[in-house]
Amino acid sequence: MNNSELEKLIRSYYPEAKDGKEITRECMDKLLSENGFVPEKTILGTSVCSDEIVRTATNFRDYLSSETPFSLGGLAGFPFTGVTGFHAFAGHIPDDGFAVIQYGPHIGISASGHIGSVMRIGQHLETTCCGALKASVGAIRDGSAGSRDNDLDYQQWKLEEQLSERKDDIMNHEEPLKLATDLMFEKINHRIKKLLEKSASAFKGNKVALVGGIIINTDHGHPDWFDLREFSVESF
Ligand SMILES: [Zn+2]
Repeated sequence: MNNSELEKLIRSYYPEAKDGKEITRECMDKLLSENGFVPEKTILGTSVCSDEIVRTATNFRDYLSSETPFSLGGLAGFPFTGVTGFHAFAGHIPDDGFAVIQYGPHIGISASGHIGSVMRIGQHLETTCCGALKASVGAIRDGSAGSRDNDLDYQQWKLEEQLSERKDDIMNHEEPLKLATDLMFEKINHRIKKLLEKSASAFKGNKVALVGGIIINTDHGHPDWFDLREFSVESF
């Protein structure tokens, strides 16, 4: 599949998606020109999957003072650090400063046209992406969802528990991983807002930007995409 065929395939699933760096620039333009964000006084937090390939899909850190983000997430991008993580993050915001939280699940679309796979650096076979969501869909299909060790494999257990609520929809969907990824975005978005609400007192006097969406990973060496689904600024 050449680049334009791949682009067409990505757009067939995510019509509004754009290059992750283009989305970053557009969001930062709005935050700086319309919302008074000051790069030197802005910290970055992310709630994205543990997978190493999600870190470079967008590049907010290039615009901000923090060279590395505060990591609020875990498998599939769910904000597993919870209230304690959000409180800690709030406490790291520069004086009279700002925070950007970029979050959401990810899905691979390989140049061979596979949904849920990518070719990674140093490998000659495609691997799953997002592996955690693909495993969740597999567990829902074979009826094993919910049977994982919820101590040794807590994050995966929690993902499967949440997605099992929509078991029938996932089983009947023509592209179950796409649906599971969309559903997980909704779960993450809802949870991020709930955690912010719960830890509002810790964010006192600051503006927080929420940048949520689905990261679309492509094969190594190709740009990643971002389907922006939430862009809002909250004042505390
Ligand atoms: Zn993942």
